[in-house]
Amino acid sequence: MAETPFIPLMIPDIQQQDIDAVADVLKSGMLVQGEKVDQLEKNIADYLGIKHAIAVSNGTASLHLALHVLGIGRGDEVIIPALSYIATANVVELVGATPIFVDIDIKTFNIDVSKIEQAITPNTKAIMPVHEFGLSCDINEVCRIAKKHNLFVIEDAACALGAKVNDQFTGTFGDIGSFSFHPRKAITSGEGGLLTTNNDELANRLRIVRNHGIELVQGKMEFVEPGFNYRMTDFQAALVLSQFQRFDKTIAHKQVLAELYINELSKTFELPIVPINYKHTWQSFHILVDDQTDRDELITKMKLAGVGVNLGAQCIPNEKYYKQKYKLNSELLFPNALKANQKGLVLPLYEKLTPKLIMDIIDTLNKTIDE
Ligand SMILES: *Cc1c(COP(=O)(O)O)cnc(C)c1O
Repeated sequence: MAETPFIPLMIPDIQQQDIDAVADVLKSGMLVQGEKVDQLEKNIADYLGIKHAIAVSNGTASLHLALHVLGIGRGDEVIIPALSYIATANVVELVGATPIFVDIDIKTFNIDVSKIEQAITPNTKAIMPVHEFGLSCDINEVCRIAKKHNLFVIEDAACALGAKVNDQFTGTFGDIGSFSFHPRKAITSGEGGLLTTNNDELANRLRIVRNHGIELVQGKMEFVEPGFNYRMTDFQAALVLSQFQRFDKTIAHKQVLAELYINELSKTFELPIVPINYKHTWQSFHILVDDQTDRDELITKMKLAGVGVNLGAQCIPNEKYYKQKYKLNSELLFPNALKANQKGLVLPLYEKLTPKLIMDIIDTLNKTIDE
């Protein structure tokens, strides 16, 4: 086989101007939460059309702060999808609350909204849906159910900056939205996160608990409650700001590549669908292999053939800690999440890839499947 370079699952697109933006902050000597963080919060809030954006140190800290300021803790239940990155459940567990898992819709990989109401009990405090792989869940229905039962909605939009339903951005529907800037997401600061809300009071508290519980009262520091240090550094904010300038172009490019996959991949795979009036941002291009295919073997063979592919997300109630603690039978209760976890495959899709490389990946995949 010809020597072609390995195509990894993901390479962040860090350009010279992004590096320069970071270097400028480093040279200025003002390293933590300063004017770049302020600017980032303003730019993202304007872009999303929401009143407040609050930058934090990562997407898990962001979810944790959301639960914390909503007063969710011991004795409370939070409804989450059974399929997600493990952090979604971990934060619920770590504030002392109980995650209540709901299976996903196998077509969208998002929470099956028809199963939410049966999971609500007198202890339910919030629904925390995930917009998985860059596609919004049926967030309007989630909000309708939440309103009816007087529950909070926290949108785990870690993967879905820029995704829309009917021209409204994810992260602006619920009480609080949460984003991540991990290198696997659309824009990265290495580690980074961001909260969104239209609620002035919540925004104020998020800012206070992000920074040791400090409130500035007439220019004077007051320690008004115990807080965390979940601040973002100014050089990370500069890195996000710089990439954010070309964000719409990045998504448009990924859209072209995703369509190429959808049109050219053979039908041995179940391909992702985008419901009408939804805008997918393709944080991950996630397909399902058929029943005959050993997914893990395929991952290994693809890596040997020079393409980094990986599984998509965890069926959380089936992961060791959650399985031992809650003893839920995932085969019976969460068959779709289990299927996505066992048959799901993420293909490379990012800014630096070209249509030619996508065709190479498809070729490699077809050959590997036929072996
Ligand atoms: C990435 C991710 C997180 C965690 O974000 P970090 O910035 O890595 O802490 C949480 N939830 C989901 C759905 C994610 O994909």
